[in-house]
Amino acid sequence: MSFDAATFKPASDLLKDRVILVTGASDGIGAVAAQTYAAHGATVILHGRSEAKLEKIYDAIEQAGGPQPALVPLDLSTATAVEYNQLAVMLEQEFGRLDGLLHNAGVLGDITPLEMYDPDTWDYVMKINLRAPYMLTQSLLPLLKASDDASVIFTTSSVGRRARAFWGAYAISKNGTEGLSQMLADELLNTSNIRVNCLNPGATRTAMRATAYPGENPMSLKTAHDIMPLYLWLMSAESRGTTGQSLDAQPK
Ligand code: NDP
Repeated sequence: MSFDAATFKPASDLLKDRVILVTGASDGIGAVAAQTYAAHGATVILHGRSEAKLEKIYDAIEQAGGPQPALVPLDLSTATAVEYNQLAVMLEQEFGRLDGLLHNAGVLGDITPLEMYDPDTWDYVMKINLRAPYMLTQSLLPLLKASDDASVIFTTSSVGRRARAFWGAYAISKNGTEGLSQMLADELLNTSNIRVNCLNPGATRTAMRATAYPGENPMSLKTAHDIMPLYLWLMSAESRGTTGQSLDAQPK
């Protein structure tokens, strides 16, 4: 099955009884994805670095009548192997399995020539955008394997397919994300119920996009709500059999 935006009409219980972790659920696309998943029946585990910001998303989900979410604050720029394992143990005790993992958290870093790129910024971007998805996936694989039908989504970007001048560590981290997704999809093919794909949201009206393109009119862009159909489809049983792909929420 492939995704067809014209015919995909998600039922309100599309994700009923699914347990889904969303990283970077405090703002931007992640905040909307978490609320959208909850609105379609999922129990959402909200990850972010700011507990105060996550609590607002938690409250919004509760007020909308969604299943009670969980909160997991963790700063991905400093997270240790011990902390990732503590998170996995906590989720094992609370839920016993994980049906979905949306790696959405990310930072832009600097837009500047490689010649001038600051090494500390490079390491910071790589830790959040590439090391964290690797570490989190590794620690949560036993829980994903405990699901009958699990979906892992990595977030890529157009510069993850073809790096462009001045995009620095962001472009390289997203190139690495594409490779990580392909490799994991291959490793899990035929040996698990886990599918693994990359999703490129495309130009979307968020704080990150405004920082990257300060001269752009945000009203000319799609909102995070507009791009949710592909996020829903990839998390649902409808995408069973789709793995190792890199998909666009806004195809050209
Ligand atoms: P935002 O900047 O709006 O949101 C980023 C999210 O990541 C926030 O929840 C933020 O938390 C979280 N985050 C950042 N640093 C950390 C950290 N150290 N630890 C934990 N969480 C952290 O970005 P977008 O919503 O625009 O982007 C979401 C994803 O989509 C990213 O992976 C981005 O690369 C990708 N993307 C976006 C595009 C766009 O046009 N918007 C285009 C292509 C790809 P906090 O709220 O605390 O800042």
